[in-house]
Amino acid sequence: MQDFGQILAQRLNSEPFNYINGEAIKGASALLDVWNPATGGVIAQVPDADTGVVGLAVAAAQTAHKDGRWRNLRPADREAILLRFASLIEHNAELLAQLETLEQGKSINLSRMFGPAASVQWLRFAAGLITKPIGDTVSSSLPGGPGAWTAFTRREPIGVVAGIVPWNFPTLIAMWKIAPALAAGCTLVLKPSETTPLTALYLAELASEAGVPPGVFNVVTGRGATCGRALTEHPTVRKISFTGSTAVGRQIGLSAMERMARVTLELGGKNAAIVCKDADFDKVIQGLGAAAFINQGQVCAAASRIYVERDAKRQLVEALEAVIKSMRAGSGMDAEAQINPVASKVHQERVKGFVDQAKSAGASIIEGCSVPEEGYFVPPALVLDPGEDVKLTREEVFGPILTINEVNSVDEAIARTNDSPLGLAASIWTRDIDVAMRSVGSIEAGTIWVNSHVWIDPAMPFGGYKQSGVGRDFGAQWLDGFSELKSICIAH
Ligand code: NAD
Repeated sequence: MQDFGQILAQRLNSEPFNYINGEAIKGASALLDVWNPATGGVIAQVPDADTGVVGLAVAAAQTAHKDGRWRNLRPADREAILLRFASLIEHNAELLAQLETLEQGKSINLSRMFGPAASVQWLRFAAGLITKPIGDTVSSSLPGGPGAWTAFTRREPIGVVAGIVPWNFPTLIAMWKIAPALAAGCTLVLKPSETTPLTALYLAELASEAGVPPGVFNVVTGRGATCGRALTEHPTVRKISFTGSTAVGRQIGLSAMERMARVTLELGGKNAAIVCKDADFDKVIQGLGAAAFINQGQVCAAASRIYVERDAKRQLVEALEAVIKSMRAGSGMDAEAQINPVASKVHQERVKGFVDQAKSAGASIIEGCSVPEEGYFVPPALVLDPGEDVKLTREEVFGPILTINEVNSVDEAIARTNDSPLGLAASIWTRDIDVAMRSVGSIEAGTIWVNSHVWIDPAMPFGGYKQSGVGRDFGAQWLDGFSELKSICIAH
């Protein structure tokens, strides 16, 4: 029997492939390197798929959609296959978790929790929706009296879905495309980020093993501007489910409207946490310490700017300074390290660029623990009351950098929270229920936590106000975004 290390090495060293029509398609004409962010070393290669390969994947998905091999299965049979897929993920969880840490850099603890374990939770939730009632009986007021008409609605799978995934949670965010698309009866072509493609390819193989028919779930790997663009602009693709930056989301949304393709856009955040002077400080420090620095701040809903009432500022700064100074930096495979590398060299330079610009604009910065020279590390830091000339005041950094801003009142904090083009998430920390509920109604964001931050659940709809996105994922209506609604009107 092979040991775990051999299985992992075999996956990393396997000949690069796209996964199309239930098969690993090898022999790519161009390749991309995949790096381990902890060392900067190349750990694997994947195809850099071009328009032709994307076309093959879309054609496979379209054939599978047209001939009904998936959408025409009994709902209970589709549900059973997806539940089997979930069990296979669970069975192979450690391999998926290690692949995620090796390609993305995050702590193995987080990969285990937010990779396979959370993916299974979201997959089972979506699978459960398949057998639940959908559609309405309509009480029409058409002429002819009672009994002359019967009207109802039905939902139909939308067709071929393009799923585009970023690099921060490559397994879980891939699942946020796979689970609803397959549960709704659609077929899917998934494009992972070019920096973190390994877990998505493995998921496609596990789906086939679970009984998902060929062509229903395909994966193409490649760069965004070429492979991603070819996929999202493909005329056969009816729905694009995109998670990534606001800039790319905007481009995709504009091009989708050319042909009225449906879109869900889950985009960037600049998420505020409002800390009131009456807050429970132990909870604040524990909650915001995690919400700002988990996965090195590479979390769309991360707390990235705090507005704290003046009387509480000093206590907050001192406590958070102690947190970031006490952290230990190390490879994600070191389960004791709390600060790990960011996902890529490009991103490391981007985050450092924000800090350097803040320094040269004279911002007051408190740096946390020191970090290794080798690998793509960025030290955690607090930036105190940065002005408008500091870029990170308004822009999403997506790194372990937290701003702390003093305010005179909760109303000022809410006004400054809302003074942003983004509106993904926010939190309010207080013991006063009136303040909490007033804030909940006033903050312009898709998710608001009270006395917590960053917790998500498949039953809780998630998405952005303003330029943080279009549409919602999760919740009881999750599959609606992957189906068309049809009205049926029968005269009798
Ligand atoms: P990105 O927008 O650069 O890339 C995301 C994906 O889009 C990648 O797979 C990339 O290859 C692809 N892509 C790039 N250009 C493309 C194009 N022209 N056409 C089609 N595809 C293209 O984002 P990123 O750097 O990978 O991820 C970080 C961003 O993702 C942050 O802004 C973060 O806030 C956001 N994010 C949002 C959520 C959410 O749920 N709202 C969740 C996670 C991450």
